[in-house]
Amino acid sequence: MVVRMRHTRAHTANRRSHHALKAPTLATCTNCQANHRPHHMCQACGFYKGRVVIDMLAKTEARTARMTAKKEAIKGQQAAEEVEGEAQGMLDQESNVTPDRVSAGKTKTLAAPATAKTKRNSPRKEQGA
Ligand SMILES: [Zn+2]
Repeated sequence: MVVRMRHTRAHTANRRSHHALKAPTLATCTNCQANHRPHHMCQACGFYKGRVVIDMLAKTEARTARMTAKKEAIKGQQAAEEVEGEAQGMLDQESNVTPDRVSAGKTKTLAAPATAKTKRNSPRKEQGA
């Protein structure tokens, strides 16, 4: 729908009178007394209507095992990369980017645009003259 006219403050306020958020209604778990959504499984213990629907303990254990395995894999990868970097640094020093080389590269990039600017300025002066 296309907005055709400016709404008055009262019109806007009347529309927004229905925008308030309600607090969610929660039920207490019969097993662990934690709050959960009514007619839904308890997220804390996995019980619904007095029986286990999902084994939450096994689930959390599986999750922690998965996360630790992932972290170890990442650590191993990083260690391998560091070893590779050191090996490359020993073989050819040009490809290895050290902080000194980065700064040297920056000074080069800074110097290059200055020369480019002077080159750009000269044609403009010619055009103006
Ligand atoms: Zn529960």
